[in-house]
Amino acid sequence: MPDFARLRAKRLFLLDLDGTLYLDERLFDGAADFLRAIRSRGGTYRFLTNNSSRGAESYVEKLRRLGVEAETSDFLTSVDALIAHLHAQGMAEKLLYVCGTQSMKRQPTQAGLRLTDDRDAAVDALVMGFDTELTFQKLEDACILLNRGADYLATNPDWVCPTAYGFVPDCGSVCEMLWRATSRRPIVIGKPEPLMPQLAMLEAGVSAQETLLVGDRIYTDIASGANAGIDRCSSSLARRRKKTSPPLTRSRRSFCRTSPHC
Ligand SMILES: [Mg+2]
Repeated sequence: MPDFARLRAKRLFLLDLDGTLYLDERLFDGAADFLRAIRSRGGTYRFLTNNSSRGAESYVEKLRRLGVEAETSDFLTSVDALIAHLHAQGMAEKLLYVCGTQSMKRQPTQAGLRLTDDRDAAVDALVMGFDTELTFQKLEDACILLNRGADYLATNPDWVCPTAYGFVPDCGSVCEMLWRATSRRPIVIGKPEPLMPQLAMLEAGVSAQETLLVGDRIYTDIASGANAGIDRCSSSLARRRKKTSPPLTRSRRSFCRTSPHC
């Protein structure tokens, strides 16, 4: 039974996008009403997405296309978290080879980070994103860099990304392929790590007790909320994901009961 008193005390809602607010070009029923209700009650929301294939501008365009007004400041992506992580770890001056879309690479470049597409350059770190422009050349470059000992980061561990026609391989699947080829595992930045919710709470000036995370994927969204010490609610799509996710290994406290294999 949901604890509605605790739910009413929430001021900040951290909302996943793909599979939670919409699926491809279809906004889920009630999503726009839900967003309006949060603001009409004096609350605020932030869209937290692991999907590093797009920049915030692209998400603004997409939500507007779906009938939801949004600003770039409403979004916090795994690329935002990556940039924060690099600064926090003293890696802001490192030379990065980013395996990602042109849209993804624009953001760290605008943030002043140094990027190269040249595998023969003195690359310090390989960054793997959800690269919908992936080529075999990039995979080969990644293997060479990893075998050379470059640091290795991944924006997100998702195995698949939902689409209207089913699932497609996401960053986690490509990392799995690189592990088979190089025996290297990345440091993961996005959900299920707690950094994204922590950044969102810090920027909003809201405590963990006043925050709720809503997502469709147990091993990333919900685990991220658990790891950040905040309440979370799984959206209904998660219940149809039994065969696409590893089991959750950490403790969880959720408003909704779901399978641990989602
Ligand atoms: Mg999702």
